[in-house]
Amino acid sequence: MPLGLPAVLRGPTMRGSHRKVVRVTTTSASTVTERISVDRPFFAVEFFPPKDDQGEADLWRAIRRLEVLDPAYVSVTYGAGGSSRDRTVRTVERIATDTTLCSMAHLTAVSHSVDELRHVIGSLAAAGVRNIMALRGDPPGDPLGEWISHPEGLEYADELVSLIKRSGPFCVGVAAFPYGHPRSADLAADTDRLVGKFRAGAEFAVTQLFLEPDGFLRLRDRVAAAGFEQPILPGIMPLTSEKTFHKGPELSGSPLPEALVERLSRYSGDAKAFRAAGMEVTGELCERLIAEGVSGIHFYSLNRSTATTELIERLGLAEQRGTARGGRVPAQPATA
Ligand SMILES: Cc1cc2nc3c(=O)[nH]c(=O)nc-3n(C[C@H](O)[C@H](O)[C@H](O)COP(=O)(O)OP(=O)(O)OC[C@H]3O[C@@H](n4cnc5c(N)ncnc54)[C@H](O)[C@@H]3O)c2cc1C
Repeated sequence: MPLGLPAVLRGPTMRGSHRKVVRVTTTSASTVTERISVDRPFFAVEFFPPKDDQGEADLWRAIRRLEVLDPAYVSVTYGAGGSSRDRTVRTVERIATDTTLCSMAHLTAVSHSVDELRHVIGSLAAAGVRNIMALRGDPPGDPLGEWISHPEGLEYADELVSLIKRSGPFCVGVAAFPYGHPRSADLAADTDRLVGKFRAGAEFAVTQLFLEPDGFLRLRDRVAAAGFEQPILPGIMPLTSEKTFHKGPELSGSPLPEALVERLSRYSGDAKAFRAAGMEVTGELCERLIAEGVSGIHFYSLNRSTATTELIERLGLAEQRGTARGGRVPAQPATA
């Protein structure tokens, strides 16, 4: 049962934001738009559906630890096929029914007919999910392989946005790419596609992960110059290990800045020192974004809570439920 706890709005005012500010009551039935239209910087967290019982336990430990810090929303990614897709729906359904969190399901068009997409959208609606991140998805197996549409499916994410909007009163988010999607001809074409998704009804966008702010800030400028005011939230992955530092950009197509490679390479082989330096880099990036008027940060949590919680504390983004406001976040084991 959603508890309907009030979200008290306080803290530093966002710089450079002209968005409408609303006072909201937090329930699992809130929309993301309601939850991010607040007069203080906020955070949100992305999870992936667990593969097994241990993964399920880890995920729920992370969800419970982050729940008390009042994220604007939490989202669950959609897998490449089969059982992982069912697990997304089940996980979001449990978040919607067992927690006070505002939940969002990712949904991809890849390998689905329109009828199947309608069915998934219906299952999400029945589970009480009101927020969907509409994505095209990548070809299964090889993200850069040839895209082959389902014969009765959709070609691009803007069509999925339209389908979801026609299916019910959903709040829809979309993906954005600070350095352009790998299949886009250039940044101008990429920006046109993003604003096309806003035109189709998307209310906000979340970016692919990135490690330095310039690409994000230029993307935001291009979208504003095109006359669109939908919030674009930076997707940030805490740099807790050498693997996340190298794998993240490789999978996302974001550049690995030379200055960062130089700064962090001296900690190579020392996991503890690398984590400390990587978290410092991530903290500085988030601080710069907030100083540039970014209203909130979407953390790629990898189903862990510790690193995200450390950043939330550093940035002063926590709203604790049932405790004195502005207090320190609960101590946690430093595992990720
Ligand atoms: C925040 C975020 C969350 C994600 N979550 C998931 C997830 O849960 N599951 C998953 O599998 N993947 C996920 N992805 C990855 C995403 O599915 C891939 O990056 C995919 O390749 C692009 O999806 P899109 O929705 O941006 O596609 P689109 O917006 O359709 O764009 C795909 C490409 O087609 C081009 N294009 C778009 N519209 C047109 C048009 N009308 N005519 C010509 N060209 C066009 C674009 O420029 C781009 O190059 C996520 C990505 C992000 C940033």
